[in-house]
Amino acid sequence: MSAANSASVNGADVDEANPLEQSTITMLDVLEEEKELEEEYAAVLGGSDEKECTYAKGAIQRQALYSCLTCCPEARDDPKKSAGVCLACSYKCHENHELIELYTRRNFRCDCPTLEKRCALNPQLEAMQPKNENNLYNHNFQGVYCKCKRPYPDPERTTEETMLQCVICEDWFHLQHMQAPEGSDKLSNACSEMICDCCMERHEFLRDYSALALQPAAAAKESEIEEVNVVDSQPTKNEQQSEQQSEQPAEKRLKLSDDACRRPKSSKEHKGAAFWANDWRKALCRCDKCLELYKEQSVEFLLDAEDSVENYEKRGMKRIEENSSYEQGIRALASIDRTKQIDVITEYNRMGDKLKEFLQSFAANKKVVTEDDIKRFFAGMRSEKSTAVSQPYFCR
Ligand SMILES: [Zn+2]
Ligand SMILES: [Zn+2]
Ligand SMILES: [Zn+2]
Ligand SMILES: [Zn+2]
Ligand SMILES: [Zn+2]
Ligand SMILES: [Zn+2]
Repeated sequence: MSAANSASVNGADVDEANPLEQSTITMLDVLEEEKELEEEYAAVLGGSDEKECTYAKGAIQRQALYSCLTCCPEARDDPKKSAGVCLACSYKCHENHELIELYTRRNFRCDCPTLEKRCALNPQLEAMQPKNENNLYNHNFQGVYCKCKRPYPDPERTTEETMLQCVICEDWFHLQHMQAPEGSDKLSNACSEMICDCCMERHEFLRDYSALALQPAAAAKESEIEEVNVVDSQPTKNEQQSEQQSEQPAEKRLKLSDDACRRPKSSKEHKGAAFWANDWRKALCRCDKCLELYKEQSVEFLLDAEDSVENYEKRGMKRIEENSSYEQGIRALASIDRTKQIDVITEYNRMGDKLKEFLQSFAANKKVVTEDDIKRFFAGMRSEKSTAVSQPYFCR
């Protein structure tokens, strides 16, 4: 969808044709508003499927997940007895249940078919399935977060609360509860990923990379944050070329560079949570020894570029670009010829709320808005108008 198309919808001719334009909301405003809602929606749901249960796909790299306390009341006392269900199951199998939104989780297999109440989306499974042994559960499944084990939003809190999710343990934390260095509130906006103090302790090797973490002192000057250099452990094109040009056999040289550990030797003491710049994961060494270490500590996902929440959200955004009623509305509008477009917009300004309702019904039902739908809407409006008290402005 080009900007030119949108401009023609909201362009100067419209203002000339309709002096009331400035005081009324435009169709584009409505569609923009809807786009914002959809973007928020997409950010959480990302690539998650809202119709099919993900159980058959096994442990999915990342998906939106819900904990059901109606099906697992014993989870209130013991998070290990929780069940996490996928987006489609949350709609279809756990409607009106007490669900806790877990945002997104990595490597989790939908638990719905393992519950006594059978999964409606997997009718082919004849019996209750065994527990998913590899799923990890924590107190988030009980609806509490952080070290303070409070719900979110916290009904007893009077000040605004910002919670950050740890990239490793996936729990959510209040900034003031994770030994973040002073001034870290600025970092929390600038960083792309955060690792909580407990995970920094647990995975000692991360402290060797702490020179790459954002420093609170630098946060005051935002320009410096962007200049944090990330050393890419993947050979660059130039390096690869020089390897090929070298007299040594390429295979031998590659082997050598594989063995050379690129893990920095940190001289600085790092304490507390760490805030990382975009792309910091690329700096993680990939030598055999380090790979072994990641495996032992179950943090191999750090090497996977697709793992980050940012990436997941991008996939979601890409999906709505193809499916959004915003795009569809604009496209349908753009396909109507120009004189009619102005008619449509003029009519719209008169009938704004009704059209908004009309478009929202499409968004709510996930239906595609077509040119015909829009024409049908305005045809309906016109016949209504002809029976109404005459409005001179609209007579043509
Ligand atoms: Zn499911
Ligand atoms: Zn349930
Ligand atoms: Zn289900
Ligand atoms: Zn807390
Ligand atoms: Zn953590
Ligand atoms: Zn290494």
